[in-house]
Amino acid sequence: MPSEIVKTDILIIGAGPAGATASLFLAKLGIPHLIADAAIFPRDKVCGDGLDLKVVRVLRHLDPAITEHELPANQMFTPCWGTRFFTQNGRIADFIYNPPPGTALPHPLFWTAKRFCFDAFLAKKFDKRYADFRQGVKVEHIQKDGNEWRVLATTPSDLEIRASLIIGADGDHSVLLRHLGERKIDRRHYAGTLRQYWRGVADIHPKNLIEVYFPPGLPMSYFYIFPLANGEANVGYGMVSEVAAKGRHKLRDIFERLIREDPVMAPRFQRAESLEEPVGWGIPLASRRRRAFGDGYLLAGDAASLVCPTSGEGIGTGMISGYIAAHFAQKALLDKRFDAEQFKNYDRELYRRLQSEIRLYNLMMSLSPRVYDFGLNLIAPHPLFRWSFRQRVGGWLKTAYETPIEVRF
Ligand SMILES: Cc1cc2nc3c(=O)[nH]c(=O)nc-3n(C[C@H](O)[C@H](O)[C@H](O)COP(=O)(O)OP(=O)(O)OC[C@H]3O[C@@H](n4cnc5c(N)ncnc54)[C@H](O)[C@@H]3O)c2cc1C
Repeated sequence: MPSEIVKTDILIIGAGPAGATASLFLAKLGIPHLIADAAIFPRDKVCGDGLDLKVVRVLRHLDPAITEHELPANQMFTPCWGTRFFTQNGRIADFIYNPPPGTALPHPLFWTAKRFCFDAFLAKKFDKRYADFRQGVKVEHIQKDGNEWRVLATTPSDLEIRASLIIGADGDHSVLLRHLGERKIDRRHYAGTLRQYWRGVADIHPKNLIEVYFPPGLPMSYFYIFPLANGEANVGYGMVSEVAAKGRHKLRDIFERLIREDPVMAPRFQRAESLEEPVGWGIPLASRRRRAFGDGYLLAGDAASLVCPTSGEGIGTGMISGYIAAHFAQKALLDKRFDAEQFKNYDRELYRRLQSEIRLYNLMMSLSPRVYDFGLNLIAPHPLFRWSFRQRVGGWLKTAYETPIEVRF
């Protein structure tokens, strides 16, 4: 017998960006729920720590003061005004947003913050009136008893949670996915990655550009340097797992080589200091379309395989899915129905925002390595690409700062 039994309508497993967002918006809708996480916050998560405009969009829905005042005032958040691409033939292409004087949206295109800080920043916002946040609660076993879930978790003592709806936001190693028999890695739609924190990487751009390098001869992969607070940087490398397996590429060797010997990158690291050993983690890409709903459950974030396949960004897509999940949960509660039919349009709402990126990824995966190299070297530095960036950047900011996130049931 578990030492405690808790009953709740809605259980969120995982308090990363996806689960935290679901909790924050359930609370905003006035809906009590339990949110459980195996970790005790603050906790690390292997990531690039880049927060894109989707993150900004969700935060503004929560409270515009977060992006207007809290992020700029918090030293752990670094504003980044654009991206620097290094092509395989060594050319540099900068895409920098310089807000025109008097512009209504003088905001950066990205923020960076260590996930150790960002996830705790979100968790601190949980509304205790509605969110019963259980930390250090690892869900070990899930079973269905009629319409009710029985979830067994280990804490200092055992806990049983009974719920009508589970929002599975427990990341790439999701226990809910395992219970459903769906935790399978599809290498074509999955990337292996490494992260290593550094201090003192040379030549970080004064506008804190997010840097992406496409190393020669290594298709469907990139090396990145994302500037952080206190002179630190998040440095990483990722490659699509199918490409890595076919080419017998060893990520750790490539990563070390890029830092020690690559003519473009190595000089940046000569006087820099690594702050940890490289740490690995996987990225489930949205091009692997996963069914993210069923009787009594919704999946969100990495558990739903929602990482943007062309950029590797999954915080923003995860947060948007948490937002959508909260609204579907609200509707289910109102209708007093938690069956799959109730959630049948959930996937459509998740994927309609990712279609163009999925198409582009599938196109990139269909190219031969030579065509891929040629395309990258041609497109990234091309003046037309930069012109298109300047034309579109205002629209991206407007969407992030002004356009409501629409959820259609
Ligand atoms: C190297 C690397 C670089 C990346 N760079 C970026 C980037 O710069 N920008 C970006 O947007 N995305 C990036 N991503 C992707 C991003 O990290 C993920 O998409 C994002 O963390 C997904 O959020 P989530 O809330 O779905 O899951 P997670 O952040 O993984 O959170 C899941 C939570 O569930 C909890 N949990 C797991 N199992 C259990 C259990 N059994 N019981 C209870 N709790 C449990 C965990 O403790 C965790 O807190 C990167 C990923 C990697 C690996």
